[in-house]
Amino acid sequence: MPRSVVTGGAGFLGSHLCERLLAEGHDVLCLDNLDTGSLQNIEHIRDSAFEFRNVDVVEAVEVSGAVANVFHLASPASPIDYLRLPLHTLKVGSYGTHHALGLAKFKRARFLLASTSEVYGDPEVHPQPETYWGNVNPIGPRGVYDESKRYGEAMTMAYHRQQGVDTAIARIFNTYGPRMRPNDGRAVPTFLRQAMLDKPLTVFGDGSQTRSFCYVDDLVEGLIRLAFSGEHTPVNLGNPAELSLRELAEVVIEVTGAKSIIVHQALPLDDPKVRQPDIAKAVRLLGWEPSIELRDGLARVWQHERHTQNHAVTGLRSGVPLEPTT
Ligand code: NAD
Repeated sequence: MPRSVVTGGAGFLGSHLCERLLAEGHDVLCLDNLDTGSLQNIEHIRDSAFEFRNVDVVEAVEVSGAVANVFHLASPASPIDYLRLPLHTLKVGSYGTHHALGLAKFKRARFLLASTSEVYGDPEVHPQPETYWGNVNPIGPRGVYDESKRYGEAMTMAYHRQQGVDTAIARIFNTYGPRMRPNDGRAVPTFLRQAMLDKPLTVFGDGSQTRSFCYVDDLVEGLIRLAFSGEHTPVNLGNPAELSLRELAEVVIEVTGAKSIIVHQALPLDDPKVRQPDIAKAVRLLGWEPSIELRDGLARVWQHERHTQNHAVTGLRSGVPLEPTT
């Protein structure tokens, strides 16, 4: 059986990717230091083809045996996390990516970097195609994440061009689904948690800033197709259906039937005003486009959260502030 290494495999996206790879018949080695991930995300995986190791990829990545694919997802991903862990975020994007690429080189494996739409910063081009170079503030609070991913992309291309490593770069746009932490500060889990308690949904600014939300199953399908393609340059993966944060809050209230009202809070520094992927390249190269509509996806997450312990009330009791950031 082919073997895949997934760094960050105990996180939100990583755990779904591990499940999908197992379903595709891969052996999966999940490397994660549980900084922002959790064993809860993978405890249901009872498969002898699955192995978890508590490893910090900033320190080293040593793996024995053959490896066909390296998926490098390890990184703080939510603003709450990377603002709390700024140096670690830079290190995981630099040393961590270097170690993961070194593993792929040594094993002659196909490497996939989980990059982000944040490489486009506060975009002046809309929607954002892969050819857009971005508008990032390197010294703002979000710069640690944005620049870490931009550096990771540069290193990935250098390993490809100079060392001949077979690499891929996925520029992932906002993705949501089961197993997001209710208190991780991202808009969808925050709104759902607030809706579950009939609390006000907190929208930043006037809520006119836009985002595009992709359901996790669609995103994982895109990652798989990209990983098994021959493409080396960045590919946007996200749902192009764009809506404002205010509209998202309204849809959450509609889908959940919550009695919540919408309240507004100050806009964080450098919060992008618009965000929408141009997915023409993914459609053309991978035959991929999202198929799960927002209301359907939100209803699935709502069902999941209501039937697990990882639900809204647990998040609220943790005392973490409720502000959504995307
Ligand atoms: P997440 O926080 O749930 O998962 C990240 C995982 O990486 C966690 O399990 C964490 O413990 C692990 N990790 C962090 N530092 C590590 C280290 N030094 N060594 C080993 N493991 C480490 O976040 P996510 O939403 O699942 O994001 C996964 C990846 O996808 C990230 O690289 C993120 O930048 C990227 N991404 C996600 C989104 C999204 O909407 N979810 C959007 C764009 C990009």
